[in-house]
Amino acid sequence: MRRTPLQQVLASISQACAQSSATVVQLLAVSKTQSAQAVANLAAQGQRLFGENYVQEALAKQAELAEAGVTGLEWHLIGHLQSNKAKQAAEQFDWVQTVDRAKLVTALAQHRPSHLPPLNVLVQVNIDDEASKHGCQPAQVGELLGLIDAQPNLLARGLMAIPAPDANMAVRAQAFARMQALFVQHGQGRAQFDTLSMGMSQDFALAIAHGATMVRVGTALFGARPSIAA
Ligand SMILES: *Cc1c(COP(=O)(O)O)cnc(C)c1O
Repeated sequence: MRRTPLQQVLASISQACAQSSATVVQLLAVSKTQSAQAVANLAAQGQRLFGENYVQEALAKQAELAEAGVTGLEWHLIGHLQSNKAKQAAEQFDWVQTVDRAKLVTALAQHRPSHLPPLNVLVQVNIDDEASKHGCQPAQVGELLGLIDAQPNLLARGLMAIPAPDANMAVRAQAFARMQALFVQHGQGRAQFDTLSMGMSQDFALAIAHGATMVRVGTALFGARPSIAA
């Protein structure tokens, strides 16, 4: 029988893990611009973690899925978050991977409902120092993590990066390696600091070779996106 895209991606992840000393790497299915039906199809095959870039789009999709009886999914926000959307994000997501400034830490903490477990957050690092990209500077990571640690309803789980899409894989590998070093450095003394989110459809195996514990894959699972999206 032909393998599904999900089975193929999971097999590639296992292979990359076997080649490095990685043990568990989680697959985040990036469903931006994809329909609720496409999410439901993947969920029916056992995929549980989904990533969305836009709060509004995610909320609409979550509502549609709930109506269809699809539950038990874990939602990660992986797009840039404006402070005025922090309330909705804090209420409707399990993870926010794009925390890159102090103001956002405060806003998320203020709005995370007390009946929910702490919001899992990753600090997004602008690892290639690109003017066009969000994310904090590597030197700011410690300070942001300190602010997160001080909020009881936020939990610092690790770091996230979107390295420059350099055609040269050796250059990308260097960016991944710099993230790995930062991740090890800031994990000292933090019990649940277990997530290094990096690697997408084109380069997730390379990211795993450099310590990624979560890869964010869209195109390889869903096919090309129906519309242009960041
Ligand atoms: C779109 C997106 C992805 C997935 O990209 P693919 O190349 O389709 O796998 C991963 N991470 C972020 C932050 C994205 O915006």
